[in-house]
Amino acid sequence: MAHPDDIEILCAGTLIHLKRRGWKIHLATMTSGDCGTKTESSDAIQRIRFAEAARAAKLMGATYDCVGEKDFHVIYTVELLRKVTELIRRYNPSLVFTHPPSDYMTDHEGCSTAVRMACFAGGAPNFSTRAASPATSTDHVPHLYYADPVEGKDIFGDVPPVGFYVDTTVTTALKARMLACHASQRMWLKVHHGLDNYIQSMKDWSAKRGNECGTKYAEGFRQHLGQGYPQDNPLKKILGPLVR
Ligand SMILES: [Zn+2]
Repeated sequence: MAHPDDIEILCAGTLIHLKRRGWKIHLATMTSGDCGTKTESSDAIQRIRFAEAARAAKLMGATYDCVGEKDFHVIYTVELLRKVTELIRRYNPSLVFTHPPSDYMTDHEGCSTAVRMACFAGGAPNFSTRAASPATSTDHVPHLYYADPVEGKDIFGDVPPVGFYVDTTVTTALKARMLACHASQRMWLKVHHGLDNYIQSMKDWSAKRGNECGTKYAEGFRQHLGQGYPQDNPLKKILGPLVR
């Protein structure tokens, strides 16, 4: 996803389910959050936020990578595509989760486009990532899932449909502990976004999604079903009745 804490807010509950079923989880963000502050320098906040994200990943037993972009610079370019494709080739994932194509800020949208395209480009060996030791091309296009847009709405305030829900009632406690690792964001989100308590906001949103599908907490997703991408939804088989 785009920034440290986006994963923990939007899809960590589902990733924890997968981890508990033996899946390897690799978290990655486009930036290390250099603008998420009103008081720290760019270098200082990046160090703080990278460490927070790494700690959160460790809590759930996942790896963490940062693509190395700057906040507000996550725009779909060939260079960004090369970096994200390199990451996709390194891990050769079966399932990929990212932001939806329309979201509240352009970093999320640039990330979404880059991840979507990297899933496709990973298997095209003639697309060079220019890495010193390039990872081999992937052998398949992964299943691609879009998490909820922030607050469940697009930039016009319209509410896009939910493709399916994942019941995250039993994983929300760990999800909240992961989100709490991003302690530097508590004050930032309060003064810049007007969010008084970002962990409670995550739980409120999860409870809203849960209420829509008849459980306590849930996460909403839509699957990318364009031509060339897998059309089945393995999460239904993996998570059974937790997918609604
Ligand atoms: Zn974000």
